[in-house]
Amino acid sequence: MAEAEMCLHCGGYDVEMFVDVPDEDLICSICKGVLRCPVRAACHHIFCKKCIMQWLKRQQTCPCCRKPVSQSLIYVMFKLSKAIGRLKIKCRNEIRGCRTTFALSEQYCHSIVCPFELISCPFQGCRAQLLRRDLEVHSQHCEHWRQPCHMGCGTMLSQSTRTQHNCYQDLRRQYEVRQQSHRAIAATLQRKMRKMQNTMAHMKRQISLICESLQVMDDLEEVIEDEEEPVIGPAGSITNSNSSS
Ligand SMILES: [Zn+2]
Ligand SMILES: [Zn+2]
Ligand SMILES: [Zn+2]
Ligand SMILES: [Zn+2]
Ligand SMILES: [Zn+2]
Repeated sequence: MAEAEMCLHCGGYDVEMFVDVPDEDLICSICKGVLRCPVRAACHHIFCKKCIMQWLKRQQTCPCCRKPVSQSLIYVMFKLSKAIGRLKIKCRNEIRGCRTTFALSEQYCHSIVCPFELISCPFQGCRAQLLRRDLEVHSQHCEHWRQPCHMGCGTMLSQSTRTQHNCYQDLRRQYEVRQQSHRAIAATLQRKMRKMQNTMAHMKRQISLICESLQVMDDLEEVIEDEEEPVIGPAGSITNSNSSS
C-alpha cells in the first residue's frame, strides 16, 4: 500500500505526544497522526496538507473514498487547526525529566526555555551537548568559555583570565597612585609657598628696617640741617642784621 511508503515525519503530530488520547476525527487517515494544517477535499475527507499533497503526486483520488480529488478544490480548515492547537501536549523532553504540559501551539515557546532541552555548548569550539539547565555549571569550567568583561573595559576574558581580571581594581589602584602623587605635589607646593611667605615676611622686615634706617638718616639729616641752619641762619642773619642795621 502507498501509505506505508509515506514519510511519517512529514505528516501529522505523533499521537503519543498528547496528554489525552486525541479524538478519532482528528486523525489523518494517511499518516495516522493528529492533523497538522488540516485541509478538506471536495469529498469532505480531511487530511494533513502535506500528506494529501504528496498523495496527489501519485494519484488523483481520495485515499479514503477513491473519489477524484483536484488540488485546486482543497480547503484549509483554520478553525479546526486552531482547535487542534489548543490540545494539551507533553514536553518532548519528558524522557529527560520534563513534566511540563502545555497547548500544542505553545510547543516552540516551551522548547526555547525547557531546562531539559538538549543543547550544544554556545562557546565556539566546544562540542559538548548538554541539558539547558546544566549550561551554567558547564560554562564555569568549559575551556572554550569566552566573554567580554562585563565592566565594559573591552577585554575578552577566557577561563584562565576570568578570575584574575579585575579592571575595576586596577583602575582604583591607578587612581590611588595618581591621587598619592597629586597629594605629594600639593604638599611640595605648600612647602614652597610657606618658604616664599617666610622669605617675603623676612624681606618685608628687612625693607621696613631699611625704611626705618632711611627715616632715621632723613631725620638725622634734617636734624643736622636744622642744627646747621641756625648756625648759618644767625650768622647770615647776623650778617644780614649787620648789614641791615
Ligand atoms: Zn497526515
Ligand atoms: Zn474522500
Ligand atoms: Zn520541557
Ligand atoms: Zn563548553
Ligand atoms: Zn574589564
